Amino acid sequence: MSAPSQPAPPLAALVSAREPFSRWPVAILGATGAVGQTFARLLADHPWFEVVELAASERSAGKRYADVTRWIEGVMPEALRDREVLPCDPSAVRAPIVFSALDSSAAGAIEPAFAQGGKLVFSNAKNFRMAPDVPLIVPEINGDHLAIVEAQRRARGWDGAIVTNANCSVTVASLPLAPLHEAFGLAKAFIATMQAVSGAGYPGVPSLDILGNVIPYIADEEPKVESELQKILGRVDGDRIAHASFVVTAHTNRVPVEHGHTVCMSLGFARKPSVDEALEVLRGWRGTDLTRDMPSAPERPIVVTDAPDRPQPRRDVMAGDGMSVTVGRVREDKLLDLRLVASGHNTIRGAAGGSILNAEIALGAPSRARSTAGALAGAG
Ligand code: NAP
Repeated sequence: MSAPSQPAPPLAALVSAREPFSRWPVAILGATGAVGQTFARLLADHPWFEVVELAASERSAGKRYADVTRWIEGVMPEALRDREVLPCDPSAVRAPIVFSALDSSAAGAIEPAFAQGGKLVFSNAKNFRMAPDVPLIVPEINGDHLAIVEAQRRARGWDGAIVTNANCSVTVASLPLAPLHEAFGLAKAFIATMQAVSGAGYPGVPSLDILGNVIPYIADEEPKVESELQKILGRVDGDRIAHASFVVTAHTNRVPVEHGHTVCMSLGFARKPSVDEALEVLRGWRGTDLTRDMPSAPERPIVVTDAPDRPQPRRDVMAGDGMSVTVGRVREDKLLDLRLVASGHNTIRGAAGGSILNAEIALGAPSRARSTAGALAGAG
C-alpha cells in the first residue's frame, strides 16, 4: 500500500506546474531599492526560485541593473548585473511569481494590476495588508491564513493573487507574542521600537538627521504596529480573518543603527505567567509545521538569550542567517504582567526573507508541484 500523499501547497496550482523548469521563475518589482536588493541577494542561490526578471520605476526601466542600482551590501549577483530593468507593467514581465519591494506610493496600483494579470504577488508594501481578503503572513505563526486567497481571487475576479508580509517591527514583535498569546491570552501590549535606518529604504534618512540622534517619529508606523498584530494572531473564519482582540499602543523611533529593529514590550495577559513559565513557552516554540524543511526557515524562529544586556542589533541581527528573532530581558513588569526585548533583521526577517518564506510555504518545491500535476494528468 502506498503512503498517503501530502496535500499540495496551497498556491502551487496557481502557477503552471507542467513547464519544464527546475526552479520557479520569479521577478523582483522594486529591484533597485533596499528590500529589492535583499531579495536579489537571498535569491541568488535559492534552490526553488530563479530570478528571471528585475523591474523598477520608469527612472530605471530600459537601463542595465548595475548602472541604476546603488548596491548597498555585499556583492551584486553576477547573473543580474547586465539584466535590463523592466517597467513594472504586467505585460512586460513574464514570470508568474513576483516579489514586490515597491514603495507604497507605487504598490497600490501596480500590485493589483499584476494580480489581475495572473501573477502571484508576494508583497512587502503596506497597501493591502489590512484588506479583509488579503492574507498577512508570518509563516511560523499563521501560514494557514493563505486559505483565504481563493476567496480573494473570486471576489476580485483575479487570476492571480496578493499575499503580504507584515511591517518590519510588527514581524519582530509577532514572533515572541505568538506563543505567549497562545499560552496565556494576550490582553494588552505597550510597545516601543528602536528602528534601524535601513528600514527607511535607500537613500532613506539624511545622515545629519540621524547620526548622534534619535527621531521619535516614523510616518505611518504606529498605526501599523497597533493594528497588524491582531490580524496576524487572528484565525481563519470562512473567507476572512477574525482578528485577535488585544489592545496595542506603540511608540516608534528611528535610531542610528544600520540593520535590526529592537522592540521593547510590556505585556498584560488573561492569565499572568511567571517569568519561568514564559521562558519555557518561548524556548519550546518552533512555530507551525508548515515551515518545516523550507529552505529559508531558521532552525529556531525565536532565540532566547539569558545575557542581561542582549539582544543587541550589532551582535544578534544575523541570528538564524537573519531569520531568527532574538528575545531577552524577560522579566516582571510593574504596570502590566511581563516585559521583554526582541530584536530582528528588518530587511531579511522583516521584509525579503519573510516574503521568500511565504512563497516557499505557498508553493512548495517545484519538483513536488510537477509530480502533483503528473498525478492529476494521469488521473484525468
Ligand atoms: P526603497 O529603497 O525606497 O526602494 C523602493 C523601490 O520602489 C525602488 O526599486 C524604486 O525604483 C521602486 N519604485 C518607486 N516608485 C516607483 C514607481 N512609481 N513605479 C515602479 N517602481 C517604483 O524602499 P525599501 O526600503 O526597499 O522598501 C520597499 C517596500 O518594502 C516599501 O513598501 C517598504 O515600506 C517595505 N518594507 C521595507 C522594509 C525595510 O526594512 N526597508 C521592511 C519591510 C517592508 P527606482 O529605483 O527606479 O526609483
